[in-house]
Amino acid sequence: MEIVTIETTGRNQMIDITSTVRAYVKRSGIKDGVCFVFVPHTTAAVTINENADPDVVHDILSTLSKLVPYKDNYRHIEGNSDAHVKASLMGNTATVIVSNGDLVLGTWQSLFFCEFDGPRRRRLMIKAVGDN
Ligand code: ZN
Repeated sequence: MEIVTIETTGRNQMIDITSTVRAYVKRSGIKDGVCFVFVPHTTAAVTINENADPDVVHDILSTLSKLVPYKDNYRHIEGNSDAHVKASLMGNTATVIVSNGDLVLGTWQSLFFCEFDGPRRRRLMIKAVGDN
């Protein structure tokens, strides 16, 4: 397993981590198997979505903020309930098939680390498992 540190710069942010995960898979030497990406935080997440048009990331973040307002009648005293809800909506794991030593992603797909309560120093855990 590898632990990667990510420094986020905004309260809500999606960071393309595909090259980081791809580099780990290459270093692991695994040719065929699966790669797990895990976010060990309750106000951050990971997702797979479009990398070509940056407006997609903008629209995802703006839609999440409309669905889950920053301030509402939340009970959680820390004041970041929106971030907890967004993190659960997006999820904290991604699984990608590894074939021929590389991630199998669609043409327009990237892995994104999702920050919902930044800026913070975050961690990302990556583990690839081979077929044999
Ligand atoms: Zn909290």
